[in-house]
Amino acid sequence: MKIIKRDGSEVPYDYMKIQKAIEAANGEVAEADRLSDTMVGFIVGRIEKRIEAAGRSVSVEEIQDMVIDELDQAEAYRLARHYSDYRLRHELLRKQNSTDAKILSLLRHDNELAKQENANKDPILNSTMRDYLASEVSEDICRRYIFPEDVIRANDEGIIHIHDMGYVSGPISNCELVNLEDMLQNGTVITDTLIEKPHSFSTACNIATQIIAQVASNTYGGQTISLAHLAPFVDVSRQKYKREIREELDAIGREYTEAEVSRMAEMRVKKEVERGVQTIQYQIQTLLTTNGQTPFVSVFMYLDEVPAGQTRDDLALIIAETLRQRHEGIKNEVGVWVSPAFPKLIYVLDEDNMTEDAPYWYLTVMAAECTAKRMVPDYISAKVMRQLKNGDVYTCMVTINLVDAACSSGGDEEKFWKLMEERTELCHKALRIRHETLLGTPSDVAPILWQYGAISRLAKGEKIDRLLYNNYSTISLGYAGLSECVYRMKGVSHTDPAGHDFGIEVMEFLNRKTAQWREAENISYSLYGTPMESVTYKFAQCLQRRFGKIEHVTDKNYITNSYHVHVTEPIDAFKKLGFEAEFQALSPGGAISYIEVPDLQNNIPAVLAVMRFIYDNIMYAELNTKSDYCQVCGFDGEIRIVEEDGKLIWECPNCGNRDQKRMNVCRRVCGYLGTQYFNQGRTAEIADRVMHLSTR
Ligand SMILES: [Zn+2]
Repeated sequence: MKIIKRDGSEVPYDYMKIQKAIEAANGEVAEADRLSDTMVGFIVGRIEKRIEAAGRSVSVEEIQDMVIDELDQAEAYRLARHYSDYRLRHELLRKQNSTDAKILSLLRHDNELAKQENANKDPILNSTMRDYLASEVSEDICRRYIFPEDVIRANDEGIIHIHDMGYVSGPISNCELVNLEDMLQNGTVITDTLIEKPHSFSTACNIATQIIAQVASNTYGGQTISLAHLAPFVDVSRQKYKREIREELDAIGREYTEAEVSRMAEMRVKKEVERGVQTIQYQIQTLLTTNGQTPFVSVFMYLDEVPAGQTRDDLALIIAETLRQRHEGIKNEVGVWVSPAFPKLIYVLDEDNMTEDAPYWYLTVMAAECTAKRMVPDYISAKVMRQLKNGDVYTCMVTINLVDAACSSGGDEEKFWKLMEERTELCHKALRIRHETLLGTPSDVAPILWQYGAISRLAKGEKIDRLLYNNYSTISLGYAGLSECVYRMKGVSHTDPAGHDFGIEVMEFLNRKTAQWREAENISYSLYGTPMESVTYKFAQCLQRRFGKIEHVTDKNYITNSYHVHVTEPIDAFKKLGFEAEFQALSPGGAISYIEVPDLQNNIPAVLAVMRFIYDNIMYAELNTKSDYCQVCGFDGEIRIVEEDGKLIWECPNCGNRDQKRMNVCRRVCGYLGTQYFNQGRTAEIADRVMHLSTR
């Protein structure tokens, strides 16, 4: 058993520490209020059992709660009171030094919380460590100066979660759809250097990766680019090759026809597309931003974004090459092809690629093969998207924990809705503060974003304020744990008709709230199914502290993301997607559904059948396949999770290797793929996932 200390480091469990603490308090109360040594030993034993039952590393704070609870149960009320007074005094003293303690543990490389916080950030790296140091300071500022006490308290109790406190103390923004088209067609400026419209496809790809790196270093969170913006440059290269070929043939005095020139040019174009796509894939995967992580990039692949004819065919060429290279994978440090986490690929299903006789059907087949092997691309149905709202810049700022609202109400519906009113208002308050910290920001804080086209073309010194209103940017209310919330209120899953209606009511309530705020303030509030990563564990821990373990509600070390069906609930892939589609439509700020599937590399028709279903029924969905690699024995398949000492550990089923540094595990953590670290809550969730499609 392991304990997580206040500074975030992990130490082996030691019963003597608990015993000594109780004995010290025991020695300070009046004789009559003291417990016998036997009784103290008995209590320590009970606490040990509770730590074991938690099935994860518990924090010192949780153990303190257990001590007080056990002393109360032993009817040693005075002692319990004394113990908690003592604890409060020390907490106050410690509070003053907690930022320093966290910073020191980061410098010593023993901060377990940081290690498990982000599946794509490794705090041993100098650059990442420096980013975490900055985050600690920013969070400290947020806590003491930016957010009011009630918001911070709700955050700490897991009633709501303020995202990215490590960044939001300043004017840094999040998640942009990069306007690559404007930047490439009209030129841009990168680090005071003028970049003109490129004269070839490969130069366009190079510039695109420079832009991605710059944007990533000026934001937190993700960005999206579209391959459509690169497509026009294929023909720029084609025309250039034709001119060169004619010159070359003229120079050696050869007779030629235009058809011959075209054929030769086409061969060169194809090679250039290969090189350009490779530049993008390798650059994105190998870049480290100033945040010490690979940029979170999504690449959008939508044929209808460009006009039919040559440009669309060129876009198809780029998409085909992107899928081919992704299917191949990238080489890990020992030279074996593995699944990279980035970039995330998004393939849009539409009429011209959804039937076997459609012109771009071959791309859809390639996409299916790529998904089966590498878990990407994800799929968007153009048909369903057209029926729903579609937007650009989405950011998730504050998430409401629906499970806590349900548990706090004790199952009383009237009380539940009252709590929902109060808590959404608390979220609103936090979102307003976030909006206000961005007001007055000069465009100079990130020229690439605000002045040179990635988001806008404001003048130097101009404030970004007008972009914060009128639907230009979206500010999001996130939600989590609809599944557990419905279970607590109705005693059934939301897939049950009795639970379904209540689940829809909750979603409609949240939508009404964002609509009201939008109406009143002209700020584009939207509802977003938070793609929780480490927050799922935080929420679960807080729920267990506040309400104990309630079956189906708080008995896991994670809570379910957004409206998703619980990971342990057996449900068929098609039913799941069909069911979730209704909820996704009520999550206009963004949400993604997924299905968990076995290895489908030898069953591409099954993947295509799922894609067909997505096209007809749901806007945005993805398939979770497994493709891991053990560097010790060369095992290529699914690396499994085993339990040891109440801790979940990844283990190669072939050789027993447990060294995470010597394996490549790739899992969906929250829409993005993760390849390095998962916290204990997320690991438990991954271990619990049931298959939604069976192999026959
Ligand atoms: Zn192995």
